[in-house]
Amino acid sequence: MKLSSLCPGCGSPTVEGLCKRCRLESTTLLSCPPRVEVISCPVCGAQRLQGRWQPADRPVEVLVSEAAERSVEIYRDLANPQVTLTVSKRGATRYIAEVELIGEFEGMPAEDRCTIAVDLRYETCDRCSKMAGRYYEAVVQLRARGRSLSPQEIEECEKIVLSQAEKSLEKGDRLAFVREMKPVRGGVDIVVGSTQMGRLIARSILDRFGGRMRESYKQVGAKNGKELYRTNILVRFPRLRDGDVVVVARGTVLEVRGYGGKRTLCLSLMDGGRVFLSEEEADAARLLGNRSDSQKTVVVAMDEAVLEILDPLSYKTISVTRPGHLEVGPGDEVEVIGSGDDLVLLAPL
Ligand SMILES: [Zn+2]
Ligand SMILES: [Zn+2]
Repeated sequence: MKLSSLCPGCGSPTVEGLCKRCRLESTTLLSCPPRVEVISCPVCGAQRLQGRWQPADRPVEVLVSEAAERSVEIYRDLANPQVTLTVSKRGATRYIAEVELIGEFEGMPAEDRCTIAVDLRYETCDRCSKMAGRYYEAVVQLRARGRSLSPQEIEECEKIVLSQAEKSLEKGDRLAFVREMKPVRGGVDIVVGSTQMGRLIARSILDRFGGRMRESYKQVGAKNGKELYRTNILVRFPRLRDGDVVVVARGTVLEVRGYGGKRTLCLSLMDGGRVFLSEEEADAARLLGNRSDSQKTVVVAMDEAVLEILDPLSYKTISVTRPGHLEVGPGDEVEVIGSGDDLVLLAPL
């Protein structure tokens, strides 16, 4: 190294201008504001950042430490910077964050430190204040065509509702809360904070059960010059549900195995073929029972056309037409619903 001058700062020999040590001394490695604020909801712990509330499932100490970390600025050309934060509580809402920085300044080890006062301010978030104010935007009404919803359907829908509420909140829909799920005649009303979430719930339920959806809204007042609307989202389940066994035109016996759009998908219990029923055909079908009420029995004997099976109610042997697609033999267990003349042999799932 060619030494051509002396440092004007300290007088040591240097290449040009200030020496490294003097440059380090005149550089701000770490700049910290004296005070930062953390705004947190006392009810749910959400945090307000840049004017926006967001869910925070972290302890207050972590929020304080994150706020302190966000507020510090580190000299851009410091190599391998490492920051250590120590947070201590100094009052009900006052924390002190001590920040230590180490790194390399032009190859020289360098360090700096500072102290930030972090004040915690409690403020009820938008969501909690709306929840407390009995606010809601939409009601999702679950009903079925020509029947009541079954307890199983209701139970499954409740799971769909709660999981959608969680997803919507994670995605930032602050009004994604379920105010109430109330049983009503024939179905359930789900009262929700957000119309957007209500629609997502309705769509997931339609995806699962089929049926139809209809949305309507009405004005319920005005606030701050803005009109307030409530949305009603009606989900109408199909008349027939999974596992229903029905008789349709010309005595064909079918089991419901799902839906395709607005049509009901069935399996023929006579030949194993797939059949789609229109809404009108589904309405006209005669319901014999549901697979959930099936009983097990045994095949006693069979020939080309007929199976003889034990009636699970009377224990008498009765003959049924042998379904072309069913591979069973004497001694095999089969599932049936009904008894006597209404006995129907189910196909394996
Ligand atoms: Zn110097
Ligand atoms: Zn809150």
